[in-house]
Amino acid sequence: MRKKLVAGNWKMHGNLAENNDLLNAIISGVTELRSESVAVCVPYPFIPSVQDKLKKTNIAWGAQNVSQYDKGAYTGEVSTTMLNDFGCSYVIVGHSERRTLFGEDSKIVAEKYVAVQKAGLTPILCVGETLEQREAGTTEQVIGEQLNAVIALAGVDSLSKAVIAYEPVWAIGTGKTATPQQAQDIHSFIRSGIATQNASVAENLTIQYGGSVKANNAIELFAMPDIDGGLIGGASLIASDFIAICHAMQN
Ligand code: PEP
Repeated sequence: MRKKLVAGNWKMHGNLAENNDLLNAIISGVTELRSESVAVCVPYPFIPSVQDKLKKTNIAWGAQNVSQYDKGAYTGEVSTTMLNDFGCSYVIVGHSERRTLFGEDSKIVAEKYVAVQKAGLTPILCVGETLEQREAGTTEQVIGEQLNAVIALAGVDSLSKAVIAYEPVWAIGTGKTATPQQAQDIHSFIRSGIATQNASVAENLTIQYGGSVKANNAIELFAMPDIDGGLIGGASLIASDFIAICHAMQN
């Protein structure tokens, strides 16, 4: 059976005191859930304290970005080795905010994906279309190109050590969620496309949905056959909502 994963993406929110309260609540709210089924991806400066709090729990942690380079004169960047030093399991790569606000194209995303795997960490590779692309009927083409850039550099087998997050850009932080069927259609498109290259990798691949997942829509979304949990932005900052979403995954 493939692994389900709910991961929180805290983005650039929070401070030490708020994070402590948030994590304390999440830790006690998910104690009975399967180990490795919940993760939080937090801003870099908080990783050491998050590691300290989570190391004896069933919750994993990770980062929201990383450099594609191993080391060197890259002012302001953080390497995969540094993330490894602090026990990270996951790194989000290709989030639409990085693609659009920070100019990360598919080549950079693929290089980051490779760097993350080379360090033994698991990339959460985000793909998704904008509203204009959906309305123009190019959703599958866009997602196919985003995936192919990674497969061309890393090979399809690399997906056995990755998580994909389908995140329609029009649903991120907007309160507009894809309907369960809209999300399922794209998840199935992703899985079947990969299956043409490696059926067993496709079958075992965790594909999360992300985009305004809330406590009140998670059960329906996660009930779809190709949706294996979620990448959660806004709702991951509200302990009761995030806990409810984690429990929805188990249904
Ligand atoms: C995200 O940023 O990955 C995300 C899914 O955000 P939200 O849940 O707030 O839409």
